[in-house]
Amino acid sequence: MTVWTDSFELVNMDMEENKSTERVNSPKKRKFLGIYFVCCNVYAQIYNNSGKYYEGRCPCCLRRLTVRIGKNGVKNRFFTAS
Ligand SMILES: [Zn+2]
Repeated sequence: MTVWTDSFELVNMDMEENKSTERVNSPKKRKFLGIYFVCCNVYAQIYNNSGKYYEGRCPCCLRRLTVRIGKNGVKNRFFTAS
């Protein structure tokens, strides 16, 4: 699994589920990642539009986030962008 970001660093990916108090739906059909943007203290989802990577923006400051997924995929659906 390879994770790249343009302007964020993803941290604590394995621990994130434990502290995610935000409402988390897990629709199995849509490909998205739940991202907690520390920059603005806001939760948002980013979507896999291209099939190759997830991309989205912080809804507040519009900083761009891109997450590339390795061939093994991701088991976690929740990340923190700090
Ligand atoms: Zn922000």
